[in-house]
Amino acid sequence: MTASSQHGIIFNIQRFAIHDGPGIRTTVFFKGCPLRCWWCHNPESHKILPEKFDGCNLRRGFDQSFSMDKDEIGKEISVDELMNEISKDRVFYEESSGGVTFSGGEPLMQPEFLIESLKSCKAVGIHSTIDTSGYASFDAIKDAAAYTDLFLFDLKLMNDDVHEKYTGVSNQIILKNLVELDQLGKKIIIRIPIVPEITDTNENLFAIRGFIYYLNNVIEVNLLPYHRAGEGKYIKYGRENKMGDTVSPERKNLENIRDFFSETKYKVKIGG
Ligand code: SF4
Repeated sequence: MTASSQHGIIFNIQRFAIHDGPGIRTTVFFKGCPLRCWWCHNPESHKILPEKFDGCNLRRGFDQSFSMDKDEIGKEISVDELMNEISKDRVFYEESSGGVTFSGGEPLMQPEFLIESLKSCKAVGIHSTIDTSGYASFDAIKDAAAYTDLFLFDLKLMNDDVHEKYTGVSNQIILKNLVELDQLGKKIIIRIPIVPEITDTNENLFAIRGFIYYLNNVIEVNLLPYHRAGEGKYIKYGRENKMGDTVSPERKNLENIRDFFSETKYKVKIGG
């Protein structure tokens, strides 16, 4: 393995993840995201720098092997330190055709750290996946694509005004990046958050289906049902939760959406 002193800021390493790409994976959560999705269940990811908080329990459920100060979210880590963590579960990746997923937050907000990490994975034969909002410079996406195996690419809202209202940014760069990534020939799994009355409207789902139909390298579509697991974090972290009493979509509704997307050429799955 080539030694790398490149550093980045992450806020969790989740081992034995099974919803972030194929097989058993280690998911590395990068800090920092340019979006502010109303339904985000990781609000602690938004700011790129480590953050102090007072005595709350935000780290409950975090991987205990990943040590941070107990009153801090986010930690600077070198690529070599990260690779030491990732390599611990190599036997599970090999047995399950798994690997590592770089998630967040938005991993492409720290492109140098991400690319050095991808290179290190590639050098030792560990399958890598990037879980992205698609809101990044295409140069960064292209550079990362040279060293990764798979993209999990979120598609949220096709109407630009509605996208901006619910995520804080325009979708134009995201859609353009998706088309250009597809043209690079990289494997892509499209992930659609199913959020009642926001992304889950006939108009939006029709528009997404129509858009992805013409892509050539999408291998799967994942429907990610809204859930309230992050609710407590908004309270503990002093952030406004704009979702109010919104509840998770019903199973029958998700099955209908799955059937609707199954009319495309793609395999469709409820969940990641
Ligand atoms: S892109 Fe993902 S991490 Fe960023 S705000 Fe939206 S849901 Fe949260």
